[in-house]
Amino acid sequence: MFRFLRRQAVLRQPFPTAWLSVLEREVPWYVHLPPELQVRLQTRIQIFLGEKAFVGCGGLEVTDRMRVVIAAQACRLELHHTPTHFPDCQTLFVYPGAFVSAFTRVLPGGVVQQEPVIRVGESWHRGSVVLAWDAVEAALYEDPGGRNVVLHEFAHQLDGGDGPPDGVPLLRDRAAYARWTRVMGAALERLRRALWFGFAPIDPYAATSPPEFFAVTTELYFEVPEQLRAFSPDVFALLEDYYGALPAASSQLLN
Ligand SMILES: [Zn+2]
Repeated sequence: MFRFLRRQAVLRQPFPTAWLSVLEREVPWYVHLPPELQVRLQTRIQIFLGEKAFVGCGGLEVTDRMRVVIAAQACRLELHHTPTHFPDCQTLFVYPGAFVSAFTRVLPGGVVQQEPVIRVGESWHRGSVVLAWDAVEAALYEDPGGRNVVLHEFAHQLDGGDGPPDGVPLLRDRAAYARWTRVMGAALERLRRALWFGFAPIDPYAATSPPEFFAVTTELYFEVPEQLRAFSPDVFALLEDYYGALPAASSQLLN
């Protein structure tokens, strides 16, 4: 109830003109959205920024430009959904560039070993998302590989919306779960086979696990859709149904 009232109060505020100019200048796909989706995105961004804390790390000062750019991309994932507003993510830690994180490995005999790994993003099931700002910014300039760390990490957040991350987000019914499991499972298997034969039709990182397959194909869907469609028309169609059509063809999808 308090949250509802708080959101209503946030939404009574006009969308700040400084934030609007960030969207228009820095978020390339924003201007291609139909006006009603632009307004919906603004609303979601207001709620996102009203509820999430941003913490600059490694000497970074988080600016409004950074907050709006990150929020816009996270909220894009839910633009055609009833939004969850990513309840598991309360804090975003932003580093200037790649950061060192601890990777936990369980060795034979149950010995737990922690080793440092370099990352540009991380998503935790409870509480936070960690991002490298230079990787966030690089995605604005259309990385030809289709990488987009914000979409990737917030796909993990959606994945965790119905329990521990398993590569399957919250879906509407059993038939949708069955389709998702069948389509994604078959495509992941095909990717692993292709990699075994030395061929990488998409980023090999997708083959790591079902959650990474969902996160990487999410990046491809928004950033290099033709590459995803060429790899798997079925995965493309599944994600199109889940995320909604991309801006150029999105007008009829509002009905
Ligand atoms: Zn990941």
